[in-house]
Amino acid sequence: MTYDIEWPEGKDFAFTIFDDPDWDSVENASVVYSFLMDLGLRTTKAVWPIAGDGRPRIGGATCDEPHYLKLMLHLQNQGFEIALHNVTHHTSSREQTAKGIETFFRLFGHYPYSMANHSGCQESIYWESARVSGVQRLFYNLLNLKLDGKNLGSQGHIEGSPLFWGDLCRRKIKYVRNFVLGDINTLKASPTMPYRDAARPYVNYWFVSSEGANVDSFNATLSEGNQERLTSERGACIMYTHFAKGFVVNGRLNDRFKVLMQRMSQMNGWFVPVRTLLDYILQVKGDRFITSAERNNLERRWLWHKIAHVRGRS
Ligand SMILES: [Zn+2]
Repeated sequence: MTYDIEWPEGKDFAFTIFDDPDWDSVENASVVYSFLMDLGLRTTKAVWPIAGDGRPRIGGATCDEPHYLKLMLHLQNQGFEIALHNVTHHTSSREQTAKGIETFFRLFGHYPYSMANHSGCQESIYWESARVSGVQRLFYNLLNLKLDGKNLGSQGHIEGSPLFWGDLCRRKIKYVRNFVLGDINTLKASPTMPYRDAARPYVNYWFVSSEGANVDSFNATLSEGNQERLTSERGACIMYTHFAKGFVVNGRLNDRFKVLMQRMSQMNGWFVPVRTLLDYILQVKGDRFITSAERNNLERRWLWHKIAHVRGRS
């Protein structure tokens, strides 16, 4: 499987970011996004549309906060994609999830085009051990032994669970993120993406991302050498990140991040949101199911990556 794609407008490569809202605040997001906006980048910002009434393991601002919502609407207006990170920062029942998705529609005028699961939400879809198959699941469970016995696992795709919402996901959401790998060239690491998975039918299309969970791993993936390789390979990069995790300290952007992003923005890249990039790849390459050999290969590479990056996941 090759990933050789002609990018629009004579561009040499494609680059985007999917930013989860974990630890978000208005102050932090304002600093990061005015910087990206000034560079001319248009990426994807995931949100929690509603404030839950429970206690999150990892929380952050939600669209229930007027100043935060105003900022998100401004980003949307400027051409950023607003996406979903479950409907709030803790477990939601089917009813709450349905309400949150409708709230998203009311706020942003469309259902989410793309989404990523938030760790700690038990209604997450094909998450935790359900991310992987067969022998890989055995290894996953060995790596993630839950000693408290309270974790019920991911249930969004399990019909009959009070947390089930797979039918809503299939009807309303096009793309869901699963694996995160170390290569800056996400498309080279997963040339089948966006792909369908016959064993996970409640998700329409899956996409993969490149490691950047916090400022250190983001900067490492975006090194000058890796940027050069991304362009010479004519690849595509979808960075996975939490921009609230170390990118801004005392109101100031991380220097190395600034330098790397300025450099990237001056290259001949196609800088569009995740959904626009995936729609384009899908249109060029057509609708595809991942084969079990491709899937096993992807899962194994992800497990190795996970062992190397045990910290900073969410
Ligand atoms: Zn999260």
